[in-house]
Amino acid sequence: MENKDPLSEFLALVQVDNFEEKYSKDITGNKYFGMPLSSIIACENRLKGTDGRSIAYFSMEYGLATSFYNTFSSAQELSVDNKMPENTIFSNYRLADYFFDIKLDKILDLPIYSGGLGVLAGDTAKTMADYKLPAVAVGILWHCGYFRQKFWFKYGQVPEKTKWDPYAYPGLIPLKNIVKIRLKGEEVNLKLWKYYVYSHKHDYAIPLVLLDADIEQNSDRIKDLTEQLYRSDNAWIKIMQRIVLGFGGVAALRELGYNIDIFHLNEGHAVFSFVEKARGLSDADVDKLKSHFVYTCHTPVEAGHDRFGQDDLKYVLEKEDFSLIQKFGTDRTGMINLTLLAMNTSSSVNAVSKNHMMVMCKQFPKYKDSIKYVTNGVHPYTWMSANFINVLKNFPKVFADIEENPMLLSKVSELKSDQDFRRQIWQAHQASKSMLCKALEKWQLKEDVFTICWARRIAAYKRPSLILYDIEKLKNIASKIGPIQLLLAGKSHPNDNLGFTFVNEMMDKVDKFSEDYDKIKIIFLENYDMYMGMALTRCVDVWLNNPLPPYEASGTSGMKAILNAVLQLTTLDGWVVEAEDKGIGKIFGYKNGVETMSNELDLHMQSDSNELYASLEELVALYYKTNNKGNADLSSRWIDMMINCIETGSYFNTYRMLDEYKRQVWRFE
Ligand SMILES: *Cc1c(COP(=O)(O)O)cnc(C)c1O
Repeated sequence: MENKDPLSEFLALVQVDNFEEKYSKDITGNKYFGMPLSSIIACENRLKGTDGRSIAYFSMEYGLATSFYNTFSSAQELSVDNKMPENTIFSNYRLADYFFDIKLDKILDLPIYSGGLGVLAGDTAKTMADYKLPAVAVGILWHCGYFRQKFWFKYGQVPEKTKWDPYAYPGLIPLKNIVKIRLKGEEVNLKLWKYYVYSHKHDYAIPLVLLDADIEQNSDRIKDLTEQLYRSDNAWIKIMQRIVLGFGGVAALRELGYNIDIFHLNEGHAVFSFVEKARGLSDADVDKLKSHFVYTCHTPVEAGHDRFGQDDLKYVLEKEDFSLIQKFGTDRTGMINLTLLAMNTSSSVNAVSKNHMMVMCKQFPKYKDSIKYVTNGVHPYTWMSANFINVLKNFPKVFADIEENPMLLSKVSELKSDQDFRRQIWQAHQASKSMLCKALEKWQLKEDVFTICWARRIAAYKRPSLILYDIEKLKNIASKIGPIQLLLAGKSHPNDNLGFTFVNEMMDKVDKFSEDYDKIKIIFLENYDMYMGMALTRCVDVWLNNPLPPYEASGTSGMKAILNAVLQLTTLDGWVVEAEDKGIGKIFGYKNGVETMSNELDLHMQSDSNELYASLEELVALYYKTNNKGNADLSSRWIDMMINCIETGSYFNTYRMLDEYKRQVWRFE
């Protein structure tokens, strides 16, 4: 082994399909699409060895932000299908929307995610690589991604399939390996793919194994299973997509010869992996198997818990598999609940914030003693702008090791009264903001105008139109205190009719500001994705987060913003509950009591919009006191809050999060 050259060692470890013809130009000597090949070999060898603490991380989706972080290079020219599409804009300056689009000459993000869950899984995988853990991530190759949002020429969203070409996507390789999964009446063959998630320093990489049903051995309806993420047309498709992940994932790990100690399931989606592993075991051994499974729940909303009728499951599963599911997953109503099934078959159950844990305990009182929490974080090197990291590096007494250790952010308070530091972070922010203004120059965005953004998945509990609820009040603030730039972005699940109505309503409201363009610019960006998430969370002045408490389990976009000293205007929900006293902006609105749960359908729009406008007015006033036509008042409380944001970012990042998973969930050491 020792004497082999890296390429032959890699090819012995990884059965690349069609290597000579398609990939030999990009995997050569000691390079893998421009990155060191040896980093892969290290991890592959450990996974195939008997390092007892190896982890398989399961998620339906992965958001890796490959358009701007650890982007692979290729000898081939980038295929047009793998480039970012042009996006239109819906603003209150319709003439500009008519003539101009946003075009970025970038590689499309690997389109196998929909939103927060995927971003978290991607950020976790990157951090596992940074920590050099023997870990593998398991997911699905979605041939048409989630969906591409097109704005209808007037008032609405049209979902389209994402077009991309996995066979020409840099860093993604098909394997010769095919696995079969065992079902009652149907044969399912899954082709395996690999993508490598490199560490920040490129000195280690963990494999992301992707399952693909679109191969000739399968019937048409089976091929369709890995076409689009979160299809919800019928129970069969939903069940089968989950079976592909659970059964297929375990079969893939076996086929690849990985010795896995800990199976980490995200959401109930992946729970069939337990069923696969439990086949043929005695009751006592099934019980022992639980010590190898851990489960993370990511949402308290009703639609987030998969429930299926027994008959629907009986239709696809063999008897033995069905009995196990029935035994561990039947709820009070006789339905099979995958959340319950996951809780009953795992040795560790966790929520993703302290507040979410309390909500879970209310929803599942029987389990309240065993539910813990590990608050989410974001991967600091993906989301913190180079501008900011460079400012920190200008203060080496405090931040010499910032590229190694993001926990040093907690020491930023030592520089709170350093005028030079205060000036530099203000300037770094202005530099980021001017990039955004440049990208949107046809809409005449200005660097010295107060800019706020709401960008997230369009779901009712997130209240996407709250800031547009009373347009007269919003206009008043702009007239009385100073101009406002408002950026909006978000997709609504194609089958969510209520979400669709929100997009409609928002566009309708935006149109009502067309007379006031000098005072209020509102820009609704099409097709919210991670690239846009990156640009928005680092370039605006204030990040708006207004879910109805307590339905936001965590929320991570605000964490990206605080890493870039962007203030928060937020309700008290999700991660914010743990940052309530940190001085990172303004908290407003409805608070959910400890004992009761608010009604998911009563959105408190009237009262919370009033509170939103009052808080917004204060922030706009403070902003114009601080930024007087480009001259910053460095003594301003605004800059104190910016520094508090950075300091708080030392907690809400994946380094702290992974330390907690190691100790409390995977029980390392
Ligand atoms: C970060 C991110 C999310 C998750 O953020 P939330 O605060 O939960 O909305 C969702 N979508 C994209 C594209 C992101 O970048």
